[in-house]
Amino acid sequence: MSNLRFKAVEEASGRKAIEVPIPGMKTSDYFGKNVFDRKNMRKYLSKETLKQVLNAIDKGGALQREVANHVAAGMRMWAMEMGATHYTHWFHPLTDGTAEKHDAFINFDGNSGVIEEFSGKLLAQQEPDASSFPSGGIRNTFEARGYTAWDPSSPAFIVNDTLCIPTIFISYTGEALDYKTPLLKSINAVDNAAVEVCKLFDPGVKKVYSYLGWEQEYFLVDEALYSARPDLVMTERTLMSHDSAKNQQLEDHYFGSIPTRVVAFMRDLEYECYKLSIPVKTRHNEVAPNQFELAPIYEECNLAVDHNLLLMSVMKTVARRHYFRVLLHEKPFKGINGSGKHNNWSLGTDTGVNLLGPGKNAKQNLQFITFVSNVLMAVYKNNALLKASISSATNAHRLGANEAPPAIISVFMGSQISTLLNELEKSKNLKEIKLQEKTGTRLSLTHIPEIMVDSTDRNRTSPFAFTGNRFEFRAVGSSANCAAAMLALNTAVAGQLKEFKKDVNTLIANGKNKEDAIFLTIRKYIKESKNIRFDGNGYSEEWKVEAAKRGLDCETRVPIIYDAYLSKQSVSLFTSTGVLNEKELHARNEVKWEQYTKKIQIEARILGDLAMNHIIPVATRYQGLLLDNVSKIFSLYDKEKAAKIAAQNLIIIEDIAEHLNFIKLKVDELVEARKVANKIENEREKAIVYCEKIVPYFDLIRYHIDKLELTIDNEMWTLPKYRELLFIR
Ligand code: ADP
Ligand code: MG
Repeated sequence: MSNLRFKAVEEASGRKAIEVPIPGMKTSDYFGKNVFDRKNMRKYLSKETLKQVLNAIDKGGALQREVANHVAAGMRMWAMEMGATHYTHWFHPLTDGTAEKHDAFINFDGNSGVIEEFSGKLLAQQEPDASSFPSGGIRNTFEARGYTAWDPSSPAFIVNDTLCIPTIFISYTGEALDYKTPLLKSINAVDNAAVEVCKLFDPGVKKVYSYLGWEQEYFLVDEALYSARPDLVMTERTLMSHDSAKNQQLEDHYFGSIPTRVVAFMRDLEYECYKLSIPVKTRHNEVAPNQFELAPIYEECNLAVDHNLLLMSVMKTVARRHYFRVLLHEKPFKGINGSGKHNNWSLGTDTGVNLLGPGKNAKQNLQFITFVSNVLMAVYKNNALLKASISSATNAHRLGANEAPPAIISVFMGSQISTLLNELEKSKNLKEIKLQEKTGTRLSLTHIPEIMVDSTDRNRTSPFAFTGNRFEFRAVGSSANCAAAMLALNTAVAGQLKEFKKDVNTLIANGKNKEDAIFLTIRKYIKESKNIRFDGNGYSEEWKVEAAKRGLDCETRVPIIYDAYLSKQSVSLFTSTGVLNEKELHARNEVKWEQYTKKIQIEARILGDLAMNHIIPVATRYQGLLLDNVSKIFSLYDKEKAAKIAAQNLIIIEDIAEHLNFIKLKVDELVEARKVANKIENEREKAIVYCEKIVPYFDLIRYHIDKLELTIDNEMWTLPKYRELLFIR
């Protein structure tokens, strides 16, 4: 009996039975165990059904209802054998996380009993009440219908007792209310555009995949300490606390040995990931204390995005089993590095060629340079849009804080490719291009079998860096859905590649041969996009000045950065590639502005509450103790002697009073400023006011609270300090 009760409590706390692999089991033995992947499909679907599903997955073909019924039956059988009792459509609304609504498989059997049921209709489409998801006004609350529809290209999986089916989420009238819909469209757009360009080099190319390998940074904190910090619980960041005497200055955490308690967490997490087919590969300590990183082997972009979202939720569950909390916020602690999510991105053909990696022969190298110069052009023309795609209230704390790239998008190419691009720019024809090899031999592009890219040529300060065979979009925030950045990038590149094909065709129509037409177009692009290339120190003040001169977008206010989604250039890009229409773009921006305001609003409220309920009372109590002490001193000694003895405490008493008065004054002002802002109806304007008028109070108030933290009796201070939060023992 007591055992049972114990089990129930454990289960409710999310810490139930840590399943571990049986000793001797290999990763490949349980990899994908909880996924309805091709292996399981082969077991549970008939040959004909399998053929149709694979056709839908690989070629995007539509599935007939009849086939969907067969798939659903096989899926249910598998899921029930795995112990699942429920199913859900799993989708990514325009909030940060994922959404799900669980339904049991049961239905009445018409004979006063129940049977397990799951039809193709339930698999393919659902109609959740969507009125509480952000839609930016596309869907008025009285028209609550939204549809989720199965995405067969991302396999279903089981979490706990629930079969999760990845789906898109659209409104009754067909507009995207999620990230997956436009992401899939952008993947399709870049596929089509890139295939057309590839055909200039190899007519056999039929499909181009976009790939994503994300690197996820995160913090771990002890659960008990986390629970004692209302700011962490409510906002995932500490709104106050003085620097710890020791933090990252000794640089002893990065790549250091991982604390045993954390290793246990990581192992458990990796096991859970493998069962879900998330191919995690790398784990290490990051720069800041308690900061870690995890990276998988890269995958097709849509799947990689799903896997990152799934990972973020699995991490949270596994952390609780180890009495940790995971912080995915971009800047949980002031004074030490924040967390990002580097998005390693590349394009590759169905013939196995990485279009962003140097090739093995002259033709492949020309293709490589073609794609590189198109990416440069795309990033150049859309630098404001790409910045908008990674901007959020939370990421704003990290960008430009001398630990992450500034709020300016530029591209780092490394010395070797830069030399090559410079040569190309100056050349009159292809034959002339020379490349300075490391060995000192000069080789012409048309004849070199290989370009050896030096992988040690790195620049940590660049938001968008070429790393030998891919680009690394490093400005993405750790809590973000990768899809926002990836769909902007894929779309920008798709639009650019379409233009490239057109430019080349025009030259060919004017009598140029194909190679020359490609060369001339590339040369033009390299010249035109030159301003986006920057290999220097992105953290420096000089770069900000220089970037402004170059005409790059230097806006730092997040709500205004979002305007880039609605620029003429962006609207034409998104509509011409079919990724998002104008109505969707406007609606999505409404959601972004609203989310921005709400996040700042919550932080402002918590800061005010903590200042009034925690800080001021504690400081006043301590001040009272000192006053007691002083008045006792004065009652014991003569005035002159007493003044001497009590001198220090008198200073502290006054200091405290000064800080308290300032905090109270600023909190009152903050409340007033919020009242004014809340009256604004236009979401954009409201967000701007929150950004300009509310945010500045955070650091002002915090400064005085942090000073008090240094002064007040440690025993009285209610909030765990950085030195406690940041060092796992
Ligand atoms: P680093 O920290 O040195 O940048 P990591 O090994 O931590 O590198 O992560 C690099 C990520 O890039 C991994 O997810 C890896 O799979 C991914 N990656 C490698 N090659 C490619 C490629 N061609 N396209 C996309 N991602 C890639
Ligand atoms: Mg990296």
